[in-house]
Amino acid sequence: MSEAPRLQAKAFHRALADRAQDPAGRTWVYLAYDQLNEALNPLPELPPERLGLVFLESPWKGALRPYHRQKVATLLANGRHFALELAERGWAVRHEVLWGPYAPALRALAQELGGPIHGVWAAEREHREALAPALAEGSLLAHPHRGWLTSPELFHRACGAQPPYRMDAFYRQARLATGWLLDEQDRPLGGRWSLDRENRLPWKGQPPAPEPPRFTHDEVSQELFDLIEAGMGQHPGRLDPGAIAATRAQVEAWWAWALQACLPHFGPFEDAMSEASWGLFHTRISPYLNLHRLMPKQVVEQVLALDSVPLPSREGFLRQVLGWREFVRHVHEATDGLRQGLPAYLAEDAALTQPGTGGHEAWAGRPWIGPTQASQGGARPNFLEVREPLPQAFWGRPSGARCLDEVVAGVWATGYSHHISRLMVLANWAQLLDVEPRELADWFWVAYVDAYDWVVEPNVLGMATYATGPLMTTKPYVAGSAYLAKMGDYCGACAFDPKKSCPLGPMYWAYLARHEAKLGANPRLAMPYASLRRRSPEQRAQDLTTAQQVQGAFRKGQPLPEALGLLQPQALPFGP
Ligand SMILES: Cc1cc2nc3c(=O)[nH]c(=O)nc-3n(C[C@H](O)[C@H](O)[C@H](O)COP(=O)(O)OP(=O)(O)OC[C@H]3O[C@@H](n4cnc5c(N)ncnc54)[C@H](O)[C@@H]3O)c2cc1C
Ligand code: SF4
Repeated sequence: MSEAPRLQAKAFHRALADRAQDPAGRTWVYLAYDQLNEALNPLPELPPERLGLVFLESPWKGALRPYHRQKVATLLANGRHFALELAERGWAVRHEVLWGPYAPALRALAQELGGPIHGVWAAEREHREALAPALAEGSLLAHPHRGWLTSPELFHRACGAQPPYRMDAFYRQARLATGWLLDEQDRPLGGRWSLDRENRLPWKGQPPAPEPPRFTHDEVSQELFDLIEAGMGQHPGRLDPGAIAATRAQVEAWWAWALQACLPHFGPFEDAMSEASWGLFHTRISPYLNLHRLMPKQVVEQVLALDSVPLPSREGFLRQVLGWREFVRHVHEATDGLRQGLPAYLAEDAALTQPGTGGHEAWAGRPWIGPTQASQGGARPNFLEVREPLPQAFWGRPSGARCLDEVVAGVWATGYSHHISRLMVLANWAQLLDVEPRELADWFWVAYVDAYDWVVEPNVLGMATYATGPLMTTKPYVAGSAYLAKMGDYCGACAFDPKKSCPLGPMYWAYLARHEAKLGANPRLAMPYASLRRRSPEQRAQDLTTAQQVQGAFRKGQPLPEALGLLQPQALPFGP
């Protein structure tokens, strides 16, 4: 293991040395990059003075994909501070930097430290795969992960042993098991399990959107951010240190802000989108929940205790964390990362043999040079058998469609956008263009700070592109411009008019027509297909022409307004 990175972490090692504990007589625990909470310690019966943390930093893993700089910075800064916090509490810390796979490093450490290392069952399939040799030979022992709110047994009891899996059935069982938001007869407070109908307001500027906190950093974080800024130029995305919570105190401050500023209005504006605020009343805690800097149980219980917050907001939040977040994780595990137990109807291309980059090559004009002993790429379910490349618009080339350009600009500036902009802007455009789902999933994986295989794959492949067919949703989420014009305010500054010239409407009809063989009999799409059948042959021919023009423009990287005979678009300020 190299000495060089230690020299590049001078402030971190000084801080670690200040808190150094005698390593003799310790039992060693490996907590992975996304297990940054002492509550996940698999040996809670031992006092800190008898525990040692194996803290692995892996430039090898970071180089597997062209991850957003903000993501790399968030992970590493939180990892380093977590190690320091445990050292402060009396743990010994053994820090290593990995330039190759995990298993040989863990084997060497187990030998040196005099016994097997205790670990926690990894959330990411990719990490489970990386640890498998160490588990098989016994240098690593896996313990259950205490961060989840529900068990696989509950999932299968609610959803059955085989797909299709349904979130509403799972959520009901999870509510009954936890007792959250139930009356004395175990009925849901508010009379319905989901109060989603109350949560569909567009946002017109009031109440004012809250501004997330900004942080100044100690020398441990600053040294890291300087390193990333100077040395990771090949990674895309803007590094914005002020937006990163790195210490436990900063993460807690972020969560206190979310409770006080976001939750009171969380529910009603959950589906709204605005150029004036990329996050509106969303909490933006997913990076910290997925790293376990915040524990799901803690955040749910604190939200449910907010008596002054209206029930639809509290229920809406509960449904996201207890419902969707747990559900997608179970789908991931039950299908081994969408590789096993999938229905026979599913067309599937062979899984990638190395990590995908989400179209980075085409944008950068050169291949992404990752480590040679790389892990595998992801599964490629493709129910609709669609194979268009991801447009360069997702990498910041202005398309002239304001909604798409604005959300993409926000993602490269922050590593974040909220749920509806992911689903109804980005994935909607990709679906209407027949983009290959795996390439889109890999784009989300590299571009978002909160993305890990267990959560990004079910969301993109299962929910947002219908690549797994009815495995976990009943229909594709696709829409024309009316939805975006109602729930967002992008159209006002767009070269297109949502009611007249926007191509999304014709693209929507052309999508339905193109996929009629697979979607036409879906009862949830009965109304759209009835409307499609009422369109005249001339209208349908025009839909097809527009869809083909848009497709052609994206393939050439030509701005849409120009391709469709309107004016040249304005460039937005942020690309990767
Ligand atoms: C195409 C697409 C890709 C997505 N990729 C990811 C991803 O890589 N990582 C990720 O954490 N979420 C992903 N999601 C889910 C969701 O969009 C984000 O969790 C949410 O936007 C995070 O922002 P927030 O913390 O402000 O969420 P809030 O709106 O404040 O919600 C609170 C929490 O609920 C949880 N949550 C809500 N919906 C989901 C969901 N569908 N799946 C899992 N958790 C959920 C998150 O932990 C979130 O922090 C994706 C959704 C879509 C449609
Ligand atoms: S007019 Fe169409 S392309 Fe433009 S912002 Fe609205 S929905 Fe998007």
